[in-house]
Amino acid sequence: MAYDPGNIFARILRGEIPCKTVYEDAFALAFHDIHPQAPVHVLVIPKGPYESMDDFTARASEAEIAGLFRAVAKVADLTGVTATGWRMLSNIGEHGHQEVPHLHIHVFGGRPLGRMIGKG
Ligand code: 5GP
Repeated sequence: MAYDPGNIFARILRGEIPCKTVYEDAFALAFHDIHPQAPVHVLVIPKGPYESMDDFTARASEAEIAGLFRAVAKVADLTGVTATGWRMLSNIGEHGHQEVPHLHIHVFGGRPLGRMIGKG
C-alpha cells in the first residue's frame, strides 16, 4: 500500500499540526501522545515516509534505522525512565491495531506497566 502523506503524523512532521516535542534530530521526531496511557507516553517517528516497521526495514537506510532506535533510547533517557525500566511498542497493520499509517514507536514508563499483552 502506498504511503498516505495526509496522515496525522506526516502533518505533524510538516508543522501543520502542533505537538509537544520531547526530542528531535535529523532522523526522528518524538512527541507526547495526545491520549497518554502511562505517566510517560511518547511517540517516536522517523522523519521519512514509512508506513510501518515492515516498510521501514525494507526501504530505510542503515543510518535512518540506527537513528530511529537511538532516538527511542534517547527519549527514555530524557523522560527519566531508563533506571526504572520502560516499554517500547509498535502496532503494525490490522491485527496490530495500528491507527496512524506512519511508523511510530510508543515509549511507555513512569509506573509498573504490568504484563506484556492483554487477553482481549
Ligand atoms: P497506534 O494505535 O496507531 O499505535 O497509535 C496511535 C497513537 O497516536 C495513539 O496512542 C493516539 O493517542 C496518538 N495520536 C493520534 N492522533 C494524535 C495527534 O494528533 N497528536 C498526538 N500527539 N498523538 C496522536
